[in-house]
Amino acid sequence: MDKIKIIDLEVFAKHGVYEEEQVLGQKFLVSAILYTDTRMAGKYDDLEQSINYGSIAACITAFLQEHTFQLIETVTERLAEYLLLQTKGLKKIQLEIKKPWAPVGLPLKTVSVEIERGWQEAYIAFGSNMGNKMGYIQQAIKALKENKSIRVERVSSIIETEPYGGVEQDVFLNGCMKICTILPPLELLDVMQQLEQEAHRERIVHWGPRTLDLDLLFYGNEVMDSERLNLPHPEIEKRTFVLEPMSEIAPYYRHPVTGYTMKELLERLN
Ligand code: AMP
Repeated sequence: MDKIKIIDLEVFAKHGVYEEEQVLGQKFLVSAILYTDTRMAGKYDDLEQSINYGSIAACITAFLQEHTFQLIETVTERLAEYLLLQTKGLKKIQLEIKKPWAPVGLPLKTVSVEIERGWQEAYIAFGSNMGNKMGYIQQAIKALKENKSIRVERVSSIIETEPYGGVEQDVFLNGCMKICTILPPLELLDVMQQLEQEAHRERIVHWGPRTLDLDLLFYGNEVMDSERLNLPHPEIEKRTFVLEPMSEIAPYYRHPVTGYTMKELLERLN
């Protein structure tokens, strides 16, 4: 991806664990690598189609001077989030904050924290088969749309499907959505599980009725096996109620492990 770089922007600000640092202030040097597509700006010589590095440098300066944090880890984290949320076309940022006057009582050149943060594409499946099913689903979509760290990009049609797993219960409403998020996978799962709880989900029987079920299907190309989260979701290939809506919104999206597209997986299942 193309990059726009700001190197060692000097800002006098008041961050630090010690009281004197928060009162007297000191010098910080900020470097930002902005990942964005510069093709159209370059082709048409048009600043409107790029990221204005002058505005970004001014934003960085104002942000550092308007806040006071103890840790440069916090300054870096919050600044990266702030820039990702407010800068059109910014897909990823690599941010380094140096503190050359860090009061450690030893002769060092500088200390710094460097992080990389960005927007990631993810897919979520939703389902409900209890109570006001459509209401629970719409409420979840609305809540995700209202979360500033999440952009809901596409929502599939909502389909009616037969219950799964052999337990006698009402039919399900199912669908999928494509989102972009700056939340890491486990924090995204936290948001989803909070929504499930808010929908008063009661799980008495495994595979049994539920007011709201949210599954994280894919998080970019992430492959992860842990107690709380498996990625990609391990049941995708077996579930028509996931593959049908996925084939509608992302037919050519490839499963990062098997390499099959959603359309191909649906055909194989059928
Ligand atoms: P269920 O409600 O049947 O979808 O299962 C929820 C449980 O599966 C929770 O304990 C989650 O931590 C765990 N889990 C593992 N991988 C995933 C995933 N990709 N999406 C949602 N839940 C997951």
